[in-house]
Amino acid sequence: MERVLRDGFIFLSQNKTLNGLAKRYGLKFGAGRFVAGDSLEASKRAIQDLNSKGLCVTMDHLGEFISTVAEAEMMTQECIRAVEMIAEEKLDSQLSLKLTSLGLDISDELIRSNMERILTRAKEVGVFVTIDMEDEPRCEKTIQLFEELRQSFDNIGTVIQSYLYRSEDDIKRVGRFETNLRIVKGAYKEPATVAFPEKEDVDHNYIKLVKLQLSLGNYAAVATHDDAMIEQIIRYAKENGIGNDKFEFQMLYGIRVERQLELVKLGYKVRVYVPYGRDWYGYFMRRLAERPANVAFVLKGMVKG
Ligand code: FAD
Repeated sequence: MERVLRDGFIFLSQNKTLNGLAKRYGLKFGAGRFVAGDSLEASKRAIQDLNSKGLCVTMDHLGEFISTVAEAEMMTQECIRAVEMIAEEKLDSQLSLKLTSLGLDISDELIRSNMERILTRAKEVGVFVTIDMEDEPRCEKTIQLFEELRQSFDNIGTVIQSYLYRSEDDIKRVGRFETNLRIVKGAYKEPATVAFPEKEDVDHNYIKLVKLQLSLGNYAAVATHDDAMIEQIIRYAKENGIGNDKFEFQMLYGIRVERQLELVKLGYKVRVYVPYGRDWYGYFMRRLAERPANVAFVLKGMVKG
């Protein structure tokens, strides 16, 4: 049953018509629990609140299904505005972005130029940028662009997904750049030809990849809500004399808030991924796919209107 629900929400997350409708009607169905707001101003308030509790942030302007150069330009400008706001308001925040929302599927020249503009401004104002990882067909292109950009910019990191067979090689491949990598399990529906179908294998690989990243001496963002993963990494770090400055935990906005604060109290750096913007629909559906228990919450939200 859980798998059916998961596949259903992943399918819905990719529906362009529903995405367009959702954009028009603003945050609905309890999406406000997972999305900080539909504007930059709303995200600022959420970030200030998190910072005041000792939590760092990476903010993400939601955007999917981009098909024109003009849309990619709007998203690029939004990213530049976001890094400027982080600096002006002295927020403890980084920026996360998705290449498809900046023109990855339109042309190589466009995505390179948009990323260079964002990274140049981010570097000027001292903001770190993480390229989120999307579905597997875009993974190689993402890694290649990351490698290219990393040669000119040191304020850039990317994401590795433990459900992909290729990820161990990718960590070794980008390791030479002493890269800050966020390691996640993976949020898309992938075939068994490229990804582990069983959760047990994804979890096992998750720990293996974080350990690999740390053993290379590189910084790891341990992005998971899973206590089993968190506890194993804490133990590994203690046993191997790896300081708290070599890794951080990351969780999504609105998920396991108590646990985030507990980890801060224990002396760990915790970064919250704060999505904002009108394009909230696909992101929201993927959160429901991950945890069907969230559906009960959403149904309550729908009843309340
Ligand atoms: P799961 O395997 O989903 O769950 C394991 C256990 O964690 C559960 O049994 C439960 O005990 C606990 N748990 C999980 N969710 C909840 C909850 N809502 N409430 C209470 N307990 C819960 N994916 C990508 O593909 N690309 C990205 O770029 C990307 N960036 C991310 C950035 C951040 C900061 C985070 C946290 C995740 C990101 N993801 C990304 C999503 C990721 O791939 C997973 O889909 C998502 O984190 C769910 O996996 P999990 O490791 O949290 O645990």
